[in-house]
Amino acid sequence: MRTPEPTTDGLKLDFSGIWSYDPAPEDRGHAKIDARYGLFIGGRFVEPKSGRYFDTHNPATESKLAEVAEAGAEDVDAAVAAARKAFPAWSKLPGAERGKYLFRIARLLQERAREFAVIESLDGGKPIRESRDVDVPLVAAHFFYYAGWADKLQYAFPGKTPKPIGVAGQVIPWNFPLLMAAWKIAPALACGNTLVLKPAETTPLTALKLAELIRDAGLPDGVVNIVTGAGATGSALVNHPGVDKVAFTGSTAVGKKIMESLAGTRKSYTLELGGKAANIIFEDASLDQAVEGVVNAIFFNQGHVCCAGSRLFVQESVAGTVIRKLKDRMQTLRVGDPLDKNTDIGAINSRMQLDKISGYLKIGLEEGAEMYQPACELPGKGYWCPPTLFTNVAQSSRIVQEEIFGPVLAIQTFRTPEEALEKANNTPYGLSGGVWTDKGSKIFKMTGKLRAGVVWANTFNKFDPASPFGGYKESGVGREGGLHGLMAYLNLE
Ligand code: NAD
Repeated sequence: MRTPEPTTDGLKLDFSGIWSYDPAPEDRGHAKIDARYGLFIGGRFVEPKSGRYFDTHNPATESKLAEVAEAGAEDVDAAVAAARKAFPAWSKLPGAERGKYLFRIARLLQERAREFAVIESLDGGKPIRESRDVDVPLVAAHFFYYAGWADKLQYAFPGKTPKPIGVAGQVIPWNFPLLMAAWKIAPALACGNTLVLKPAETTPLTALKLAELIRDAGLPDGVVNIVTGAGATGSALVNHPGVDKVAFTGSTAVGKKIMESLAGTRKSYTLELGGKAANIIFEDASLDQAVEGVVNAIFFNQGHVCCAGSRLFVQESVAGTVIRKLKDRMQTLRVGDPLDKNTDIGAINSRMQLDKISGYLKIGLEEGAEMYQPACELPGKGYWCPPTLFTNVAQSSRIVQEEIFGPVLAIQTFRTPEEALEKANNTPYGLSGGVWTDKGSKIFKMTGKLRAGVVWANTFNKFDPASPFGGYKESGVGREGGLHGLMAYLNLE
């Protein structure tokens, strides 16, 4: 296998002849990645006052894609000041006018969808089929959806006088970099807020491309500001006194720290945190359909999904059949080059995440579980993990209780719906769940009693901008998406 060495000469990254498999022409495209990115503050890219930069890599090849500015406290200060300055005019703009900007962003995204999809796969490691067919279309849909609300806020909340909160400080993770940016930016702008967004340190590129697109859309300077950096930058942003509202998506551990630091301040906040979803298959389900659903639930985006169905519960009478079918199906999954449209499982996002997943595989074996991985050839460079399942796990196993955030499934069995519910609800998390059955009555019974913010029936990992999303327990506070997503960005006295 040849090792791709993308050229980052500041002009363009040309994929032809670089990749081991030849990507289909519709996927190849030309994605422009600059050698170096500054911070997007006040409508333009500026050098960081910190003077520091960090590298962002392609996890499939370990090669450097670009240098990105690391915002220090002074830079965060400048970004918040730009957002504050832009707030009075933006918040007074009629909703229909704000909506026009959001519609324009959505349309520009659709026009440049291919470029965004390629960069998302390059920087994050996810299969191009997913970034092209799921992430980018959902991003455009999100902007379209909230564009439609911008002039209807009064109708959304009858009897109230909705007012924007002010400046939002938004921090997002690396698993859906562009989609999480859209989930944050679109409702904030529709409601008349201005914002400073910090993308994750391993996947900053599509947020910076979005900054370029937002500038092209003619959004007034300072309405959207994007600062890059790691945890210290995020912390400086959420703790900045000029921020009125914090929107955080990331791990429960960091979410707890943020909640502590915000206690006693006047800031409002939403926290979208980790998960350990139960996917429950009853004996009366269409088993082939359920097995496809399980594959999608846990192997989509390498299992780097907060709502991934990482715990499978199968009714005892069909457990042997389901596990055999699942293993057969796992043998057909292709792990490899994210830019190959036939790839099912791309690269793990970073060395750190791969080490974390490998650590959990070891823990699973030490706990006495049985591990299955299909034979698959992994590329020589980059970060990879084959699809993995564990059987013979206990309810108390760490691989059952803790979020692994990789393509790793823990399988348990149950006899009665009550037993399935008790086991499913027995984690600190409560973000999502899935139920597979032929009986509508069982769907209603189970979905009503699962302590999870989102429950899918006979499907999994389906997203729509109109549906609220969020967790119970340690999976978070507040909701994003749909009408509920507006509430998080409005004062509703
Ligand atoms: P993370 O918590 O390590 O980092 C998330 C973001 O927070 C990054 O931008 C990071 O730089 C920043 N950050 C780190 N320390 C900070 C601090 N002290 N103050 C402020 N910001 C800080 O999480 P991650 O590993 O990037 O993402 C994976 C996690 O995100 C998983 O737990 C996953 O379940 C969760 N997630 C949740 C949702 C949801 O909607 N509930 C969606 C996607 C991901």
